[in-house]
Amino acid sequence: MSTSAVDAVRDAFERMAEVDAGPTGLNCILWTDEGRALEDAAAVDAIRSSLALAGVPFVAKDNIATTHLQTTCGSRILAGYVSPYEATVVTRLRDAGAVLVGKSNMDEFAMGSSNEHSAWGPVLNPVDRTRVPGGSSGGSAASVAAGIVRIALGSETGGSVRQPASYCGIVGVKPTYGRVSRFGLVAFASSLDQVGVFGATVQDAAVALEVIAGRDVRDATSADCPVDRYAAAATADLKGVVIGKPREYFPSSLDPGITKLCDDALDSFRARGAEVRDVSLPHTDLAIPVYYIIAPAEASSNLARFDGVRYGLRVEAKGLREMYESTRTRGFGPEVTRRILLGTYVLSAGYYDAYYKKAQEVRTLIARDFREVFESGVHLLFTPTTPSPAFEFGAKSDPYEMYLNDIFTATANLAGVPAMSVPIGNIDGLPVGGQLLARHFDEQTMFRGAFALEAARAGKP
Ligand code: GLN
Repeated sequence: MSTSAVDAVRDAFERMAEVDAGPTGLNCILWTDEGRALEDAAAVDAIRSSLALAGVPFVAKDNIATTHLQTTCGSRILAGYVSPYEATVVTRLRDAGAVLVGKSNMDEFAMGSSNEHSAWGPVLNPVDRTRVPGGSSGGSAASVAAGIVRIALGSETGGSVRQPASYCGIVGVKPTYGRVSRFGLVAFASSLDQVGVFGATVQDAAVALEVIAGRDVRDATSADCPVDRYAAAATADLKGVVIGKPREYFPSSLDPGITKLCDDALDSFRARGAEVRDVSLPHTDLAIPVYYIIAPAEASSNLARFDGVRYGLRVEAKGLREMYESTRTRGFGPEVTRRILLGTYVLSAGYYDAYYKKAQEVRTLIARDFREVFESGVHLLFTPTTPSPAFEFGAKSDPYEMYLNDIFTATANLAGVPAMSVPIGNIDGLPVGGQLLARHFDEQTMFRGAFALEAARAGKP
């Protein structure tokens, strides 16, 4: 890179001041410390490093622990909370020369698909400010789409990186479960959670993932599996690659504009030598009910730690029980409260077998669908990322409607496979993403498909 780290960080803050601040701003960045960011940048410049991300500004979602900026998870209950330790993903980006310029807005505790559930106000979609940026990592997606940064960290439990990437017209990656350390990521649903990356381009996302991926002794669920050079996956052709088109992701009710853009994308895969095959993932329609039992169940347990004693907000009351109650009532917003109630219900005696156990059984079937299709010789799957482009604020006030929005993304989290969203076009000026899914730990082939898609859209040979 020819510019200095200090210049790059200054540019990021200038852009932030232009688009993000004030009552009409996007509201994608919550916490910053410009002085500290400039100091970090100067330190990178001083060593004139050839590090992979030397001087590249980045933002991290507000549920990823940082030691000099707050980590509030978009919630009142953690207002003012500063973590005593740093998430591994942040450390790895910083060690590679990247500079943290802010913490990004999000749906409270990563629960949501629109960023309307942040205690700090909604984020606006930079492409069309009357629309949501998607969620829950909406702040990270908007920061990249608005040109504040080229890379951003988000988190995924059921689509929270891929869906906002699709709505904002950028690239978003959910790695294989275990590919990236969760140390320092505030837990939502631990069996589904994974840190993900946003990039302005496939290359940006590839480099960022390469840096953060790999075994971390501080996360026992991180896998000891070699990390490929994802950025080197950019080859011109897809010869020998078999791409499955799962029929359950292309229902007749799908927006015809999205169907058309997906067909064009599939044609461009074929033109590069890939074979496209019709396949089936028969349990897809059960993903939403299963996800909305397992995720709240795990959340109700994980969020029990926010009790007014250990972290953040404490609302005093007569006795201990009353203090817990008043703290949690005041601290959590309505969506988080709903999930905790739902999760507690499905785990309670008498309902556990009917809901939680059943959901776990069906989760196994969903994972088996993927295994079978990949064992049949298919390397990649291609689907729309979302059933529609970005919607208007308030359009999905019924929670169930909002949950249905995750239909094409929650499956990858339930099965643990890697998946990413890449822009494939626009409908009435609104971006649409196509989703690529791959075998466990085969991010390399996924990126190969993504590079091909991006090149085809740019009209490159
Ligand atoms: N929209 C989903 C939910 O509300 C997914 C969230 C996520 O991936 N963190 O739970």
